This record gives sequence, structure tokens and C-alpha cells, in this order.
Amino acid sequence: MRVLENLQETTFLCQRYRAAGLSIGFVPTLGALHAGHASLIRQSALECEKTVVSIFVNPTQFGPGEDFAAYPRQMEADTEICRGAGADLVFFASSGEVYPEGFQTWVTVEDLTRSLCGGSRPGHFRGVATVVTQLLSIVQPHRAYFGQKDYQQCQVVRRLTRDLHLGLEIRVAPTIREPDGLALSSRNRYLDVSARRVAPRIYQALQAGSGLILGGEPSVERVIGRMIEELSPGEDLRLDYVEVRDSETLRELEEGRIGPGPGSVLLAVAAVVGKSRLIDNVLVPLL
Ligand code: AMP
Repeated sequence: MRVLENLQETTFLCQRYRAAGLSIGFVPTLGALHAGHASLIRQSALECEKTVVSIFVNPTQFGPGEDFAAYPRQMEADTEICRGAGADLVFFASSGEVYPEGFQTWVTVEDLTRSLCGGSRPGHFRGVATVVTQLLSIVQPHRAYFGQKDYQQCQVVRRLTRDLHLGLEIRVAPTIREPDGLALSSRNRYLDVSARRVAPRIYQALQAGSGLILGGEPSVERVIGRMIEELSPGEDLRLDYVEVRDSETLRELEEGRIGPGPGSVLLAVAAVVGKSRLIDNVLVPLL
């Protein structure tokens, strides 16, 4: 496995892969890798001849007062996880190179980013869409891998690759969870013992909402009510949002009614538990 810290060398090596006719899978990350990231790398290694992982704590996707400075950085441990999961190239990018002096070009995905995390984190998806576009143009992969845990991000990336005719395949992999259902996240390490005990309520709420819908409940309001009951918000868990949305457009459902199918609805939750803002979601198939 190669480890690079220079964009030009990374671009050059990826060009060589393509010139040799090898398929490239790409896994962009912020680092502080865990088994969720490793599952994306392994999937890419199964499906592609070369797997490239980027590690870059992208400043433009963090808002003022968010955890950019505190975000965990662990080069050696990340390198070993990439190696163990079958990556061929890991590159650590730097802000100075990604955002050259005089930088002023942004990628904005409009409708999809107006609500959910886009509503609570203004500018977040502009930073994500821009850096993903930059990284895709450096690596020029055949496939790029994203986790369903960040479902809105997946929709944003799918949209921008279509709108900008980037010509690659976006692969979305299932959310990897702790045994009690908590979605793995680099931000789980900020949870102290009592916050860690509270955090699984998020997935329990998603399951409760999902169970109601599968049982035929048509009212968005009642499903959200049930989920809030399960979350039991208070000092220990402060709600950011609980939503039931169209899984393609992320818009609210017409007349607050779920179904009938075809397709699926998205149940999504964001909450602050202890020092961490945690997000999670499930897709519920409609009959
Ligand atoms: P991040 O480093 O948080 O930007 O995440 C990099 C990629 O890993 C994104 O596509 C995430 O959706 C994905 N990811 C993060 N957590 C998980 C998880 N628990 N299961 C699967 N994929 C994940």
C-alpha cells in the first residue's frame, strides 16, 4: 500500500492506474477511521482493482463553533486500518493544497441541502459537495463509496455526479453499528459513559418508527410522535430533528401521509448527546 501526502503524486499514481486499464474505487473520509470506514474500503477492494482512500479533515464543511479543531487526527492508526481493509493508496491531503491561494470556486447542490442537516449546519453541504468534486477530479475513480449513515450526503453526491456528468458510479454501503444499535461514528469517542448509555435511543427510535410504518401506520405525525417518545429528549439528549421524508427528494411527504408504495421513506434523526451531535437514519420500504 502506498501512502502519499502530495496531491500531484496522488493524481499521477491514479493516472497510472487508469492508463494500465485498472478499475479504481475511491473512499473519501475525514479520518479517525473505524469499522464503518473499513467496510467501505473492503467493499471497494472486492469490486475494484485499485482502492484509493483519502483522509482530509475538510475545514469548509465545519461551521463556526463546530468541532473542526478537535476532530480526531490519527495518521498511523488510519494507515493501518486502510492497509488491513485492502487499500492500495491512502492519501493525506492538506488544506493548503486542496484550497490553493485565491480559491473561490464552490459546488452548491440546491434543493437537497435545504433541510435536515443542511438546515442545522448552514454551508456544510457546500463544503462537502465542493471537496468531493475536487477529490473525484483528482482520483477520477470508476466507483466511489459512501455510507448510508450520512444519507443526505449520499443523495447530494449522487445528484452532483449526475448534474456535473462526472460519469462514475456511486455505491452506498449499509451503516455499521455497535451491538446495541448505535451507528459507528468518529464522534462516538466524545461520548462519556452516561452519554454512551443514552445514545442507542436514536436507533431504537428509528426502529420504533419503522415498525409502525411496516404495520401500516399512514400518519407522519404519529410516526414522529412515536419516535420522539422513544428518544425521550431532555438534558441528556437534545433533539435537532426527527423527520419522515421522501427518500429520493428528501422533501416532506404530501399531506403528511406515508405510502402507499412503491419506493421507500427515510426516517432520520439528529440529536446532541453529551458533547456529540449524532445522526442516523433508516429506509423503510413501502408496500
Ligand atoms: P467521515 O469520515 O465521517 O466523513 O465518513 C467517511 C465515509 O464513511 C462516509 O461515506 C460515511 O458515510 C461513511 N461512514 C461513516 N460511519 C459509517 C458507518 N457507521 N457505517 C458505514 N459507513 C460509515
